Amino acid sequence: MAKVMTVLGEIGTEQLGSTLMHEHIFASSMGIATHYPQFYRKDFMEYTIEGMKELKANGISTIVEATPVCLGRDVRNMKAASEASGVNVICTTGWWGAEPPYLGPSTAEQWAQCFLDDMTIGCDGTDIKAGILKAAMDVDGPTEWKVKIHHAVGMVSKQTGAHIMLHTYCPKETPRHQLKALQEEGVDMNKVVVDHIPETTDMDFIKWIYDQGVWIGIDRIPIILFPGEYAVTTETRIKTIKNMIDAGMADRLLFSHDVQFCSTLFDNQTQEMQDYINAEYPDGMLSLKNRIFPALADMGCDPDALWQMTIDNPKRFFES
Ligand SMILES: [Zn+2]
Repeated sequence: MAKVMTVLGEIGTEQLGSTLMHEHIFASSMGIATHYPQFYRKDFMEYTIEGMKELKANGISTIVEATPVCLGRDVRNMKAASEASGVNVICTTGWWGAEPPYLGPSTAEQWAQCFLDDMTIGCDGTDIKAGILKAAMDVDGPTEWKVKIHHAVGMVSKQTGAHIMLHTYCPKETPRHQLKALQEEGVDMNKVVVDHIPETTDMDFIKWIYDQGVWIGIDRIPIILFPGEYAVTTETRIKTIKNMIDAGMADRLLFSHDVQFCSTLFDNQTQEMQDYINAEYPDGMLSLKNRIFPALADMGCDPDALWQMTIDNPKRFFES
């Protein structure tokens, strides 16, 4: 029986249940959560635990918490929230975003050792171990730092068999660079999920990703847009998911929202922005269940089959 590491220790894959594959319980800038938690809403722990209990009551058993150190990873509070709510939490090591300053010419091998330590010894001075690796590439493409992190993550996966989640920017086809770096390290593509796919409508490119033997991360849906940003709409994203299902990709889809319970980004917005976020996300991490799956059902998808995908596909992913 395959095992998965959570913040409360290992569980069997049959215990995962309905799993959201890319969410954030807490997200901030590096160091803020531990030093200046006042940038979160005052009741952030109570608010989080209440939200997680609501997920549990709605049949969701597991969250993959996609917050590495540079996004303010807080494994102690993740553990407390998991204990209080009964939701399994799989925490992340690896990196998101740009190169931090004051590191000199750090090597992929050094980073690989850091990430390996997070998975085998524990994160942030605790014995809480990371259960998945993460690497990211965005609109600025394959910078030296981002390629290096992909190689580091690839080294750990090759050595341990750990799974990898990729933050991508599909309008610029970053998965081509990201998968190349992982393939150069000999990573098994069956252990990789390529996230943020609904940001593109290019079915030829999505088919190319699928044909690499990876898993398809369906998230950022609904989409929250900040003033001046452009992205394809939530409705278009739903159509793209339908197109993927019609194209025979249902066996590889891993669903989530990529939202946060508590984020120093969202918690410090103007009232106008808060109102917009609340209007777009009245259901939070229940949006798939309450809004997206019903919309897909209206387009002819079987709602029971969609829900079953949130159980069967993560289990098969973590057993791969
Ligand atoms: Zn995310």
